[in-house]
Amino acid sequence: MKYAVDENGYYGNFGGSYIPEMLYPNVEELRVRYLDIINESSFQKEFEYLLKQYVGRPTPLYFAPRLSEKYKSKIYLKREDLCHTGAHKVNNTIGQILLAKELGKQKIIAETGAGQHGVATATVCALMGMECIVYMGEVDIERQRPNVERMKLLGAKVVPATSGSKTLKDATNEAMRHWISHPEDTHYIIGSVVGPHPYPDMVTQFQSVISEEIMKQLEEQEDTQNPDYVIACVGGGSNAAGAFYHYLNNEEVKLVAVEASGKGNATGQSAATTVLGKPGVLHGSKTLLMQTDDGQVVEPYSISAGLDYPGIGPIHAHLFETGRVHFESATDQEAMEAGVELSRLEGIIPAIETAHALAALAKLNLKKSDVVVINLSGRGDKDLDTYIKWGEY
Ligand SMILES: *Cc1c(COP(=O)(O)O)cnc(C)c1O
Repeated sequence: MKYAVDENGYYGNFGGSYIPEMLYPNVEELRVRYLDIINESSFQKEFEYLLKQYVGRPTPLYFAPRLSEKYKSKIYLKREDLCHTGAHKVNNTIGQILLAKELGKQKIIAETGAGQHGVATATVCALMGMECIVYMGEVDIERQRPNVERMKLLGAKVVPATSGSKTLKDATNEAMRHWISHPEDTHYIIGSVVGPHPYPDMVTQFQSVISEEIMKQLEEQEDTQNPDYVIACVGGGSNAAGAFYHYLNNEEVKLVAVEASGKGNATGQSAATTVLGKPGVLHGSKTLLMQTDDGQVVEPYSISAGLDYPGIGPIHAHLFETGRVHFESATDQEAMEAGVELSRLEGIIPAIETAHALAALAKLNLKKSDVVVINLSGRGDKDLDTYIKWGEY
């Protein structure tokens, strides 16, 4: 497969495993065993069972008539917002907790920014009766109180990261430190297609159920497995990787990734990595990231916590460099308008991350015959405060 990871963990010029020596045994154990474990039929069976009976898969592929009329094309929404816990993230945490069990680990750690991945991890730990520690920046703990309480209610321990800017990057450092000192009994669940090899590939494979379902469901409704476009928002890029995966080698299907450009790419308050980033190493892999001339990571900005990340996964850096995926960006303003629009036209309040993908509809020059699938990565309940503060509805 042309865009698949190679045996060294690279997607073209990007990927690999850039980790401190101390982490090597943990990551190496995963690298050596992940493919055997996830391809085992007993693993597949349990994964499929939980996705069906616990997560609620397959999620619907809903034809959106009023949105289609507005954009003069045929628009389908892949309803990841209807997954248990409200977003696609749980597809990955289910996969990784089963993997952790196979590896004989009893404890789970995770990092979280806005708390969505923390909640998805705390959920599967409760499901499996495993101990769960979630590292979260002190600043984020203040900003994301409801998710902190959800994690606690689910039985997880939320540990504040008090160094640096007290946000996601610092929480990641704390989680890494914990993992180094507990390699025997602990698995680290990373929440997107980022991190050292094999995480980007592993998370992509768990999320690829999204495009697998789209193909079957589109066949039923349109007599073809192939839409003209698949559109998804990109923070680290896991929902996009899942929605694109089975279409990567089919160049007739146009793939569109949408980044957050915050207050505008020229304002310095943006998270549009492919516009503003350069190659470098972030969280264990070589990828595109926003950095200063001397390589310091630049603080990103987006109204949406899930897209507020200074890099993208290495698979997306490669898909951008090769031109296989077309990258768009949407500002806070454009995304919020698109979120309100979907609420009004279809009765579906999207997550603000997802609203960025919707904002691309206006930028694509769609034709009447075009079949478009938008990956509706999550629901907007968690964003109600942001919608209220925005106020323009
Ligand atoms: C976390 C999140 C994202 C961004 O993460 P990706 O790994 O880029 O998919 C997008 N949408 C929702 C609803 C999220 O919770």
